[in-house]
Amino acid sequence: MNILILGGGGREHALAWAIQQNPKCDRLIVAPGNAGIAAMAECAALNIEDGGAVAVFAEENAVDFVVIGPEAPLAAGVADRLAAAGILCFGPSQAAAALESSKAFTKAICDASGAPTAAYGHFTEAEAARAYVRAQGAPIVVKADGLAAGKGVIVAGTLAEAEAAIDEMFGGSFGGAGAEVVIEEFMEGEEASFFVLCDGETVLPIGTAQDHKRVGEGDTGPNTGGMGAYSPAPVMTDAVCARALDEIVRPTMAEMARRGTPYRGVLYAGLMIADGRPRLVEYNVRFGDPECQVLMMRLGGQVLDLLLACAEGRLAEARVNWSDDHAMTVVMAARGYPGAYEKGSVIGGLDALSEDSAHMVFHAGTAEAGGQVVATGGRVLNVTARGASLAEARERAYGMVDRIDWPGGFYRRDIGWRAL
Ligand code: ATP
Repeated sequence: MNILILGGGGREHALAWAIQQNPKCDRLIVAPGNAGIAAMAECAALNIEDGGAVAVFAEENAVDFVVIGPEAPLAAGVADRLAAAGILCFGPSQAAAALESSKAFTKAICDASGAPTAAYGHFTEAEAARAYVRAQGAPIVVKADGLAAGKGVIVAGTLAEAEAAIDEMFGGSFGGAGAEVVIEEFMEGEEASFFVLCDGETVLPIGTAQDHKRVGEGDTGPNTGGMGAYSPAPVMTDAVCARALDEIVRPTMAEMARRGTPYRGVLYAGLMIADGRPRLVEYNVRFGDPECQVLMMRLGGQVLDLLLACAEGRLAEARVNWSDDHAMTVVMAARGYPGAYEKGSVIGGLDALSEDSAHMVFHAGTAEAGGQVVATGGRVLNVTARGASLAEARERAYGMVDRIDWPGGFYRRDIGWRAL
């Protein structure tokens, strides 16, 4: 079959890599793709947030299945537009994507379904929000309602910080995303990510992961999109996974179906776990980046069968073939990231690395220029490996990192420290 993946980051490179291993995949196109993806699939220039343009492209190229990687096209309703054109698509409808695009919506779903999450208030003007934080006290978490690329959440240690965040959000710093604000109780515990597929009725767990959001070793410094990840997450024991399914994910899915907006796609539950009890921090309606990279390395080619079963409503008969393995990804970023960074620095040594089912460099922000790979983004490479233990996966991943010659880049040396 002909498959189109929308997106151009490390997540989409990993999806393409896994999907291409499945013999059902005849032709693979990724839009827009990147230099790493271009080495293994066709790349196409396309405005992936324009559902009409994506549908026309899919028809012109006889695409049988579209896999949507990032949240923006989902929030823009690209899945709805493809469904209307009769094109099979993996990814939730715009209405169901509200589980990520509106924090107030998710909180209301938790209220209706009884899913455990932080106590909260929802505000449309600053004065009431300030009064709420004064009544609750610090620490407290202030969140812009809409999509803000991970920057719309302030974990405030003091009341002054919380009030400054409220003023900033209502002052328009986050545009439309900050017109409404959710203020939450600060939850203590260990964070982990839980991934399931849902076809509107059946829920199928496909793995757990943990990531490192801070830029510096020892989890210090400013937040980033993620500096590394590993799977499985030791804190997600079978008992914790069972509670997360029964108490959080299944009730959410049932409530979405009850409202007439059944959820179809991958649901990524960000959880806070304390004393074996998971509570919901947030939902994302797509694979995490870089968590996807470790999940894809562990699942391999069966991913295509799972995504197809999900899109076609056949999850009840689908099974995941688990192997007892571990995967780790180390993010290499451009010096300066997450602040200002230089673009265009040359990355060497990639050709000499041997890549196989246990060793892959997924490209995030790269392009080809004059026969060389150059950095074009903040997070640039996801050096990913699999092993019988997390220690082995880690040794393999850093073994590759050490052979990449990129003076313009940096990485954390301690990915996985908590689990190891
Ligand atoms: P992203 O999608 O990049 O993870 P986001 O903008 O959707 O981010 P959240 O995941 O809701 O935001 O919050 C970002 C981070 O802030 C969380 O991963 C967690 O570390 C912290 N956080 C959010 N809410 C809480 C809370 N109620 N208690 C403690 N920490 C929290």
